[in-house]
Amino acid sequence: MSSTGNNIGWCANIIYWFDEVSERAGGVQTETLRQILVQNFEAEYLNKWLEGANIQEMDANALESLYTSVVPLVSHADLEPYIQRIADGEKEPLLTQEPIKFLSLSSGTSEGRQKLVPFTQHSSKTTLQIFKLGAAYRSRAYPAREGGRILEFIYSSKGFMRTRGGIRVGTATAHYYASDEFKLKQEETKSFTCSPEAVISSGDYKQSTYCHLLLGIHFSDQVEFVTSTFAYSIVQAFSTFEEIWKEITNDIKEGKLSSRVSIQSARDAVLDIVFRPNRNLATRIQSICEELEKNDWFGVIQKLWPNAKYVYSIMTGAMLPYLTKLRHYAGDLPLVSGDYGSTESWIGVNLDPFSPPEKVTFAVVPTFSYFEFIPLHRQILGSNSAASDDFIEDNPVPLSQVKIGQEYEIVLTTFTGLYRCRLGDVVEIAGFHKNTPKLNFICRRKLILTVNIDKNTEKDLQLVVDKGSRILKKSRAELVDFTSHANVSNQPGHYVIYWEIKGDAEDRLIEECCDEMDASFVDHGYVVSRKCNTIGPLELCIVERGTFNKIMENFIANGASLSQFKTPRCTNNPALLTILSLYTVKRFHSTAYVP
Ligand code: AMP
Repeated sequence: MSSTGNNIGWCANIIYWFDEVSERAGGVQTETLRQILVQNFEAEYLNKWLEGANIQEMDANALESLYTSVVPLVSHADLEPYIQRIADGEKEPLLTQEPIKFLSLSSGTSEGRQKLVPFTQHSSKTTLQIFKLGAAYRSRAYPAREGGRILEFIYSSKGFMRTRGGIRVGTATAHYYASDEFKLKQEETKSFTCSPEAVISSGDYKQSTYCHLLLGIHFSDQVEFVTSTFAYSIVQAFSTFEEIWKEITNDIKEGKLSSRVSIQSARDAVLDIVFRPNRNLATRIQSICEELEKNDWFGVIQKLWPNAKYVYSIMTGAMLPYLTKLRHYAGDLPLVSGDYGSTESWIGVNLDPFSPPEKVTFAVVPTFSYFEFIPLHRQILGSNSAASDDFIEDNPVPLSQVKIGQEYEIVLTTFTGLYRCRLGDVVEIAGFHKNTPKLNFICRRKLILTVNIDKNTEKDLQLVVDKGSRILKKSRAELVDFTSHANVSNQPGHYVIYWEIKGDAEDRLIEECCDEMDASFVDHGYVVSRKCNTIGPLELCIVERGTFNKIMENFIANGASLSQFKTPRCTNNPALLTILSLYTVKRFHSTAYVP
């Protein structure tokens, strides 16, 4: 197998296309907006704002000015009544002219609750396009063998739920994996996933993970790269592998499938592939794993998939805390950060696969949606308690007017019926590809920890936890996962941080971590409040091993998919707080501010 002219052909074509639309990014955006409005101006929501305007005849620039001056900025909650009416089966065009047949469930793990978002064929098409675009840049950097395999830790639900009005509901990933575009991507990029459809959509993440690992090993020489949507799933899969590798090796040796996999369709699909005993492969895997076990599984991915060129997944934002573990499992294999998008719309593509995940930027694809950017200015002292978070906003600007170094919140107008809808993500302009901006993902905008005048975002919490957990390195323990909660049930309120730790650490060391975290919040409001005790000492709760798995399972039981799962970094969700409190085994209180 070798990289052929055909392969080079599709890569060059799509890169050429992207260069061309990036060159004309401002104009492409204006035209994209015109297309969205011409398609949908008669839908009830748009008609409310644009009634009387001659949309079809209007010049695109005039239309852009009209649109941004009369249609208000909204959040998802403002559009929810319309989405609910669609879900209830109303047939009139409400948000889009074309009837909405599918609704996607956002993961809800960052917002705390799941949102329903319209999904159309346009959504699947843009998914295919961004995947091909990303694949083209990656195969330029790391040429892949045509016909090779991808070990993908991907998960989708078994079938779809239906709303009262009969609309199919599933996660965006479930819609995509069930679509023709998913098959098309494999055929066009000539890279095939190791697992058949029945494994991806088994609906039971444990059984799917087992099969993904088994099939990955079955195809071990052919695997070109290892991937998942979010890095969490790869880390989760290999921590499972540490426990079950002997069983998998045994299955390979005997050409059978463990009774762990009980879903018949998944069993049949796997046994169709792995039906012959393969003693040679089993012996090789066994000796590699015995060696790996002695080295705490360092480089397991590299060792088991000797032809893999890289590990590919979203590693930014809420995934940064898993990077250390991912690097550990990947060994010397490069980590390539995945693209940037949301259930609402794809946004940007990683054009530089050599860039380390900490530095990755995403070039906005100007044909996907109409993007606006709300300039955000950080308040120096953060003590304005009336402000909803730490930023002061300016008026939104179009993509063509963004400035390098400035932070913005993204606003989306999509082909799927969202109009000037705030996404809630903060990005920074890192530079340009031709004339389209390259974004740094900064954080979710929403404040996550606040008791009174203090304001801390997900990013602030991540930095603090990162500092605190470095102390664990003095022992043989490591941080597996974390979340937090602002406890205001007693006065003074205080922050509670929950840690799951692997390995042993002495109490004295964990006390040190607790103090370090309390002292590391630099937000002025927090520091002042701690000094005068209007915020109480930070509490660090250590939870039992496996607690964060239970949290993930709780999300999955409520309709989320493992492919989209992101541990909530702060929670007020009573079900999660109950799990956390039930499995807390030790509590520590900071003495950082004791005079
Ligand atoms: P969902 O709720 O599943 O639609 O998740 C979408 C959210 O995931 C986005 O709004 C971002 O906050 C986050 N996200 C998606 N892609 C990335 C990325 N490449 N880097 C950081 N965060 C991301």
